[in-house]
Amino acid sequence: METYLIRTFGCQMNKHDSERVAGLLRAQAMTPVESAEDADVIVFMTCCVRENADERLRGQVASLKALKPGRGRGPLIAVGGCIGQRDGELLLRQLPHIDVVFGTHNVSHLPALLETAASQRRPQVEVLEESSEFASDLPTEREHPWHAWVPITVGCDNFCTYCIVPYVRGREKSRPLDDIVAEVERLVADGVLEVTLLGQNVNSYGRDLYGEPQFAKVLRAVAQTGIKRIRFATSHPKDLSDETIAAMAEEEAVMPYLHLPVQSGSDRILGSMNRVYTQREYLALVDRLYEAIPHLALSTDIIVGFPGETEADFDATMAVVRHARFDQAFTFIYSPREGTPAATMDGSVPREVTQERFDRLVELVHACALEKSRGLVGTIQPVLFEGASKRDESVLTGRSPGNKVVHVALPEHATAEHYAGRILPVAIGEAQTWFLSGTLGTNL
Ligand code: SAM
Ligand code: SF4
Repeated sequence: METYLIRTFGCQMNKHDSERVAGLLRAQAMTPVESAEDADVIVFMTCCVRENADERLRGQVASLKALKPGRGRGPLIAVGGCIGQRDGELLLRQLPHIDVVFGTHNVSHLPALLETAASQRRPQVEVLEESSEFASDLPTEREHPWHAWVPITVGCDNFCTYCIVPYVRGREKSRPLDDIVAEVERLVADGVLEVTLLGQNVNSYGRDLYGEPQFAKVLRAVAQTGIKRIRFATSHPKDLSDETIAAMAEEEAVMPYLHLPVQSGSDRILGSMNRVYTQREYLALVDRLYEAIPHLALSTDIIVGFPGETEADFDATMAVVRHARFDQAFTFIYSPREGTPAATMDGSVPREVTQERFDRLVELVHACALEKSRGLVGTIQPVLFEGASKRDESVLTGRSPGNKVVHVALPEHATAEHYAGRILPVAIGEAQTWFLSGTLGTNL
């Protein structure tokens, strides 16, 4: 086994798990390749939050069958992450050319499972109920040298009625504050400029360890390490404290960007989703945030077509979008997930009704995003550059503090690599819905 390919579906936690898989395989002296044909090992990090991710995974694994004329021949195929955790042996029955199935709690066992599958020419399935390891105790191969994901909690205790995550990621477990700080200190020494603190609900960080949430303390302690940029996801509105808002407003390294999923604007639907806040409470929170951080960029998640959603419920969601002035909204059509309470609720909304609402919502989201972007024209934004744009090599691309994509022309005779991983000021001249363009200044 000399080469590997990792395909990742789903959320940032999965992206981070994939970086850990890459770190583990690199530690075995394996090297990454771009195509399945060149790979000795193909690893899928999977997501089952919505049905379409589930279907795509099955389609992609099925299409690899042609590369495997028989057991022990062709690449080893490993399926991990949330579908591995949920389906275990079932995956092997459905797709018998898989060699390894692993779950969300045993990423570190992957090299050993691959080794056994190869030497015994028999598929290996290992799914554990609980984890004994914390994510970042493992080697990690970072996608960008200047950015690192730092998990601060794993699992979730919220049991939103539509959501499969608590069943496949387990109960919420926080990582001791000292461990988090020590890791960020190591990352700073290694040249990392930006960390993204990860958890299904970072705002409840520490409840299991310290009796009450301590996320504000995490932000302040991580800011003390000298890291340039701190981002975090995800924030559950019910647990976002005034202390956290104050830390966001006061700590320069904490970026003025917040992902605050609302899911619905209707109190009835929010109740039935078990979200534990009302539209009024959500909007009051948004108002407090804008008051404390006037230039805040706000994003959200919204589900359309939850069981029982009426036109009036949907109108309430549209009203929230107008009031909150989101910079971005990730919009989802409700997808029933077996084993969750919502999957057995009455009142399923016809597909064409959901689609029509979804289209109206997307239009409004675009209009709000463009309005927020236009508000940045004429400002100077410190941009962390990532390199050349994938679409146009003569364009440099990076992110503003508010997480907007920013484009500038690559200066003549310069290479994009020269700018990658540097924070430079950009005078914003033009705004589109999803990106800003401007002129590069000198070093900050
Ligand atoms: N913990 C995060 C949170 O609370 O927002 C992320 C959870 S989930 C991975 C990301 C988003 O997927 C959720 O915020 C929700 O909008 C959406 N989602 C989860 N389950 C869904 C379902 N069954 N159907 C449609 N969208 C769903
Ligand atoms: Fe799922 Fe709700 Fe937990 Fe987010 S907070 S992971 S939506 S159960």
